[in-house]
Order: sequence, then C-alpha cells, then structure tokens
Amino acid sequence: MRILFKGLEDERFIRPLQLITNLYYEESEVSITNLENPDLIIDFQYKYNNPSITTYAKLTDMKFSQEYEGSYHKEYPPFENEKELFKKMKHTVSHVYVMIMEDYTGIIQPWGMLTGVRPTKLLHKKIQEGISSELAHKQLKEEYLITDEKIELMKQIVDRQLTMVPDLYELQNEVSIYIGIPFCPTKCAYCTFPAYAINGRQGSVNSFLGGLHYEMREIGRWLKENDIKITTVYYGGGTPTSISAEEMDMLYEEMYQSFPDVKNIREITVEAGRPDTITPEKLEVLKKWNIDRISINPQSYIQETLKAIGRHHTVEETIEKFHLARNMGMNNINMDLIIGLPGEGVEEFAYTLSETEKLMPESLTVHTLSFKRASEMTRNKEKYKVAGREEITEMMDNASSWTKEHGYVPYYLYRMKNILGNLENVGYSIPGQESIYNIMIMEEMQTIIGLGCGAASKFVDPVTGKITQFANPKDPKSYNDHFIEYTTKKINILNELFGVPKGV
Ligand code: SF4
Repeated sequence: MRILFKGLEDERFIRPLQLITNLYYEESEVSITNLENPDLIIDFQYKYNNPSITTYAKLTDMKFSQEYEGSYHKEYPPFENEKELFKKMKHTVSHVYVMIMEDYTGIIQPWGMLTGVRPTKLLHKKIQEGISSELAHKQLKEEYLITDEKIELMKQIVDRQLTMVPDLYELQNEVSIYIGIPFCPTKCAYCTFPAYAINGRQGSVNSFLGGLHYEMREIGRWLKENDIKITTVYYGGGTPTSISAEEMDMLYEEMYQSFPDVKNIREITVEAGRPDTITPEKLEVLKKWNIDRISINPQSYIQETLKAIGRHHTVEETIEKFHLARNMGMNNINMDLIIGLPGEGVEEFAYTLSETEKLMPESLTVHTLSFKRASEMTRNKEKYKVAGREEITEMMDNASSWTKEHGYVPYYLYRMKNILGNLENVGYSIPGQESIYNIMIMEEMQTIIGLGCGAASKFVDPVTGKITQFANPKDPKSYNDHFIEYTTKKINILNELFGVPKGV
C-alpha cells in the first residue's frame, strides 16, 4: 500500500504515521513529500490556538475515487515550547488518521492509536496523577481510541501489579539487576537474543564468566557504598542454565558475596528455558542459593514444531524436567508458550493448553510470534507457514479464557513491533506468584542494571523518571575485550542519577 500524506511538512510526522500504517498493512510505503501513483492520499489540515488543536483529514482512495473525512479537536494544557506543541500535534494527527482508517478499512484497532510497547504505563501515570479509575477509562478511550476490552485488561493488570508490589511507585531509589548469559545448547530459528551455541566454546565461556564476575563485584561494591537496595535479580540470556553446575555455583556465590543484603532481595529468577540444560545437579545448586523462581519453556507441545524452530529437545523432556524441578522443591515455575509458531493453528494451540493443564505451572507467559528483523525465521519467511491475523486473534482469546478458567490472572503485558495481528504478549500467573522483575521491567519505575553479554541497562532518573538506555556488547568476544570500560560507564551514569559527587 502506497500512501501520500499532504499538509504535513515536518519530517517528524513520518515515523508515527508509518507505525500506524503498519497496524493496517504488512507492506507499505508512506511519504509526506511525493510518491508516484499512491493508492491513498490523505490531506491534513490543522488549526491550533494554544492550548487547543483541531485536525481535519480527508482520505481519497485513488482507485475507486472514494473519500472519507474525519476531525479531532482537543483542549490541552497550555504548551510551553515547540517540542511540546509538536507532541500534541502528533497526537491529534495520529488520532484522526486512525479514525479515518477505521472507517476506510473497517478494521478496529483494539489498541487504538497506540503503537508503543507498554500501554499499561499510561494507566499507571493516570493513577499517579490521582485520576479515578472511571475517568482514566474514559480518557484512555477518548484520547487513544483503545477499546473497552483492552482498557479492562489494562486495569486488571495494573491492579494485580499494585497488589503484588504495593510500593511500586516508591521503588525508584532501589534497583533491579539483570544478568545476561549468552549461551544456549543450539540457536532457535526465531531468536534475536544474544545466544551462542555453547558446544566447543569453553574458552569463550570461561573468559565471559571472568568478565561477569568482575561486573558483579564492581556494581555490588557501588551499591553497598551508596546504600542502594536491590529489589529483584533476573538471570536471562541465552539460557543461564547452559553453563555447568560448578559455574552456576560460583556465580551465585559471587552474587551473595558482592551484592548487598541478598537475603532481602524480593525475588531471584533464573531462566532455565531450554529443558535440555536442566540436570539434578543444577537444580541442587539453585536450591542451595535459594533461587525462588525458574522458567522452563515448552513454547509448544508439538514435536514437529520444536524441530522446525530448531529447539532440539523433545516434548517429553520438557514434561520430565518440569516434574524433576517440582520434585526437587521448585515451587515457582514459569512456562513460556508461543502462539503462531510455524504450522500451528487453533487446534495445535488447544493441544498445547491441554498439556499445560497437566502441569499447572505457577505462571504462564503467552507470546505471539513476532517476525523480528534479525531472526532466521524472518530472513526465510517463505519457508515458514504461519497462521493469519484472525486465527492468531482467536488463539489469543483462547489463551485468555483458558487461563481465566484455570485460575490465572494477567499481570503484565507488552506489545511488539511486527507482531502478527498486532496483538500483545501477556504474562499470566496464579495470584500471588507474579514475577516482580517482570513488573519492574515493564512499568519502568526503577533502574535496571544489566550485567553480562548483551545485557541492556535502563537507568530511570529517581526524580524526573527520565530513561537512559545503555547496552553491553552482544558478542562474547567484544564483551571480554571491553567489560571494564562498560562497567565504568555504568557506574558513572549511576553516580549522576543517584547524586553521588564526582571523584567520590
Ligand atoms: S533458548 Fe531462548 S535465548 Fe536460546 S536460542 Fe532459543 S530463544 Fe534464543
């Protein structure tokens, strides 16, 4: 679909308009200057009279000479500067664009004009401003065109988060820690995480762990010196259980020695995503260091699917390792499922849910397969047969009703770009077993310090809430060459954020 937008001279409009266009068309080209033979022309006009803006738009379908019109008027608080004015303009233009596209295509976007990853943040913001639940609902619907159903989902999630973490809005002076271990037994086809097949890499694993221990010591020292508490720790990657039981043991010992007050950390999670990495020895190590929560990820219970996506483990192994972990005392197990894996439709997903019922993990994360640019699956899109938008929606609805019937509640969600059907990934949990780390990462209420390969840090200013991102190198070689430099950079950012005078 080729779309020419007229009346918008500012280049900054292109990105939001492209993102909204992506909600309707898998392939599109948009322009605000010129485009030969466009399929649609959308003419915008706006009037602003600080603090109100009125935007009109007229869509013309060039092939069928059909026209659709819409307008949106909004009173804002007075704008302070040009940047703020543009933000409001972007809002009204996006709003009216979605309105006319809904008329033209007949497709109602459940998330309205939202294209961002974390819709629940909007509701948290309104609650923090003291806005009542009813008014927040009305505003989300009117301002962003979100459907009632999705607003109810947001409310339910935010409610669960505040029940699980009642001091969520006061945790900005604590931090959480993410530790990235970049190795897996083999690389899955849809994976874009920093994950390297571990076989034959022992040299690289050793050097990597040396760097990671260094980072843990230095960051731990800084936290102790500045009296900053840790809320949660999360080991991800890769697969953190792909290293040996001895290496895991030394890593957790380092955590206990270096980090402040580990006994009072609210939650420590280790992803043991690939069942083929789980052994009784490793489970013993996890227990020894009081690791509360692990993840064992089936993704699907259909053997051919696992083979097609390169997971190299069997369905039986997932079930067997789940029971092993359970029998060895692991009582908070998460399982990840993916909707829309190649060759899977409603029937296959129903089978996966019926197998899940036999295990009843404490939490269940339901992902929608997304075609991320860097994955093998995206590069070879034609090779993989995936379900269409409607079937994906049906499977999401089935996941939602199945979890409800089985006593799970949704407690976090995030949306991804290029996700099939423009839906969302939802974390469900038996009430009281929600992952606090997942809440912290989704709602961006506090700093998360990333250590290890490919680990992204997200520094949240405790006063302004402004977010600064920082990423460690993705491949073990450059991590090994530069970890000291990256640790120093993170400590400098932490000093600035938490007001530590220079030279201290
Ligand atoms: S197990 Fe996870 S991190 Fe490892 S390759 Fe597969 S998707 Fe990527």
